[in-house]
Amino acid sequence: MRSRPVITIDGPSGAGKTTVSIRLAEAAGMIRLDTGAMYRAVALASRSKGVPWDDPARLGGVARTLALSFRTVAGVPRVFLSGEDVSDALRTPEISMGASAVSAHGPVREALVEKQREMAREGGVVLEGRDTGTVVFPDAEAKFFLDAAAAVRARRRFLEVSPPGGQPFEEVLRDVLRRDVQDSTRVNSPLRMADGAVYIDTTTMTVDEVVGEMLRRLPGIPR
Ligand code: C5P
Repeated sequence: MRSRPVITIDGPSGAGKTTVSIRLAEAAGMIRLDTGAMYRAVALASRSKGVPWDDPARLGGVARTLALSFRTVAGVPRVFLSGEDVSDALRTPEISMGASAVSAHGPVREALVEKQREMAREGGVVLEGRDTGTVVFPDAEAKFFLDAAAAVRARRRFLEVSPPGGQPFEEVLRDVLRRDVQDSTRVNSPLRMADGAVYIDTTTMTVDEVVGEMLRRLPGIPR
């Protein structure tokens, strides 16, 4: 039994989960767990080890032995893999598609879900991802599902691609749509709204408005 609540935020790429989860965790005095970064890290680590993205058994091994840590440096969340800051390397178009590919495999999901449950065991955590409310913590005290029009989501992703401007908008849009299909049609933990989740369409909302709406939905949660 955990002593503090768990909040889950799921939704497709570019729906606003990362920005909003950082702000919400800050406002609620909780820590944040970016589960997408973990799938991205498996894609990056397996590429550097020469493990193909369609080899479930070996990818499961990479996921189980992932030496990943999250730290805040100068107020900005950063991701470290085997001690190296890989935050920017995780956000290239190639690794985005790789994360979507490796995340479809059962052994990868099992390994990472186990790590996520362990990391958030005590509560006081905001998790963001695709399955955090459906699979990782179906008993979360609060669940949100963020969504937005595809063109708006692609525009947001276009502005944060690493390196900046490194991919034309049309390609970003194509990749966003392709990942939507891959993530929501896969057999293992497809992207879908969790039972009891609050649905928020962020298409025309500012970050402040989204965070405000979420905090309004949380008053009953002990912090
Ligand atoms: O959220 P982000 O874009 O960083 O996630 C990268 C990819 O990782 C997603 O496209 C999805 O395929 C996968 N993912 C997942 N389950 C999660 C989080 C991310 O399958 N909980």
